[in-house]
Amino acid sequence: MLDIIIIGAGPAGLTAAIYARRAAKSVLVLEAMSYGGQIINTPDIENYPVAAHISGFDFATKVYEQAKSLGAEFKFEKALEIKDNGSSKIVVTPKNQYEAKAVIIATGSQNRKLGVENEDRLTGRGVSYCATCDGAFFRSKNVAVVGGGNTALEDALYLADIADKVYLIHRRDEFRGEASTLEKLKQRDNVELVTSSRVTKLIADKRLQSVEITDNSGNSTELEVSGLFVAVGRIPENQSFSSVLELDSAGYAIAAENCRTKTPGIFVAGDNRVKDVRQLVTATADGAVAATEAVKFLNN
Ligand code: NAP
Repeated sequence: MLDIIIIGAGPAGLTAAIYARRAAKSVLVLEAMSYGGQIINTPDIENYPVAAHISGFDFATKVYEQAKSLGAEFKFEKALEIKDNGSSKIVVTPKNQYEAKAVIIATGSQNRKLGVENEDRLTGRGVSYCATCDGAFFRSKNVAVVGGGNTALEDALYLADIADKVYLIHRRDEFRGEASTLEKLKQRDNVELVTSSRVTKLIADKRLQSVEITDNSGNSTELEVSGLFVAVGRIPENQSFSSVLELDSAGYAIAAENCRTKTPGIFVAGDNRVKDVRQLVTATADGAVAATEAVKFLNN
């Protein structure tokens, strides 16, 4: 039986792997997609201590290599369920069942959709959830970003270097993203802030042609854009594990700063945990805490 299974190879899961391996525990990391999690889409990280500028991809690759070099095992399989048998936990994937004494759930979150008609059909045909992945397709075109958080602000800044024109559409007149990024955006000639407005219609033939936006007074206008980058937040990936977790009304796993959940031997780390500040630095901190607590649990 393994000591610890870590579900999710984002910053929280990878950091947990480093800490657990340094405590000489056997570690299997299960990841449904590829290592790195959400940070892999961030073009330039400026707020992580020591690394004044590093891309999310480079950051994730370095942490992944670090965890691997310390002896963490990785399998790219989606964890579907955790069965709690008390002193052992079974993690079920489509191919296998893995057994461990402790599990750290570091599954992060997935993109929230806008919920407008045709959004799914036009995904990959003008609608995107990842500016760094798809931005290059919109060189010298007009694009829009929706959202008012750090992701939307950073996406708009990134796209301002590529696209002819970037509209940043936000439903309120205040942004929740960092003021310094907003300042940088305001200095760009090709960025227009469209506040107190929502995207109400996607106008397309085979690909997106324009979006209808409606302001909070009910007035609608059309913006000609060939790309719409949706950055309206994330949904925590906890549903598969709800039998061993207590979730809040938004679906976040309830656990205190020690990352312990209601189930002994099951810990939660990173963006899928209830917390006030969801940043790279708090995700890695969670990974360290969850692994340290898991090691304490195993040693007791
Ligand atoms: P977020 O902070 O939750 O912001 C989501 C934004 O989308 C909010 O402005 C929200 O509007 C808006 N929104 C939500 N649902 C909407 C809907 N249905 N229609 C229109 N707008 C909608 O999400 P995020 O920007 O992805 O960031 C997630 C976390 O990662 C945050 O803690 C953020 O600070 C962090 N992050 C950090 C970095 C970094 O450290 N460099 C980079 C990216 C993200 P309201 O404001 O009106 O609620």
